Amino acid sequence: MKAISIGYHDVVEAITPSDDPLRRCPAHYTLDRPSFQTHLDAILTQAPKAVVSSIGKPRQWVDQVPIFLTFDDGAIGSYTCVAEELESRGWRGHFFVTTDWINKPDFMSPAQIRELHHRGHVIGSHTHSHPARMSNLSWDDLIREWSVSCQILSDILGEPMRVASVADGYYSRKVGQSAAAAGIQVLFNSEPVKSISTVDGCMILGRYSIKAGTPTSTTGAIASGALWPSLQQTGLWEAKKAMKALAGDSYLTVRKYILSTRQL
Ligand SMILES: [Zn+2]
Repeated sequence: MKAISIGYHDVVEAITPSDDPLRRCPAHYTLDRPSFQTHLDAILTQAPKAVVSSIGKPRQWVDQVPIFLTFDDGAIGSYTCVAEELESRGWRGHFFVTTDWINKPDFMSPAQIRELHHRGHVIGSHTHSHPARMSNLSWDDLIREWSVSCQILSDILGEPMRVASVADGYYSRKVGQSAAAAGIQVLFNSEPVKSISTVDGCMILGRYSIKAGTPTSTTGAIASGALWPSLQQTGLWEAKKAMKALAGDSYLTVRKYILSTRQL
């Protein structure tokens, strides 16, 4: 089974510099609304037969490769910009919420999360505290991150939480196993692959990450299943993984340095 999952973060009306430490790094992943509209238009024009669906509607996508659009962190733009843009095209998204950030400035409130759910979007966990490197956490800490976050979202939505995404892309088999043990049935990581695997009964889906400078043609090509951006992203990802393995703790410092000196 395959799926093409495209991972966004925040979308805002207009980009403004932020001093908020929670928003500074994700700024590299933040799109303004006009840019986001061109990304969605590129999906429509370059992949006209694509089925943009949601994991909550399996009947729509079980016979073909679906496109899932995901949005990490639970920032306010999910509510003020993204949902409206998706709905105007008849689409629904997946919104992954870092529960410790709920109600903080620029992040969604419980009422806004509940409303997105009622409008047909999928709400999922993005851990409780957004740890910098999930794959290094102990088993108990992983279980705590998933179960605290899922409990908070279950209380908000009034139903069990079964969908989640990995924070900061640090996926390992143990991360998948801990999600399964916490009752999560569908887990999105950030490996740029289309194939869906399972770990202890939990479905694991990769994602293609979209940054602020990603050309819309790349998004369209990914949606259409064209090979080159997939290979390009996979190549970059493998290089990053090798760098992580070599650099250990210093990888985060190196990455922050690269991000701070480059316009992405
Ligand atoms: Zn995140």
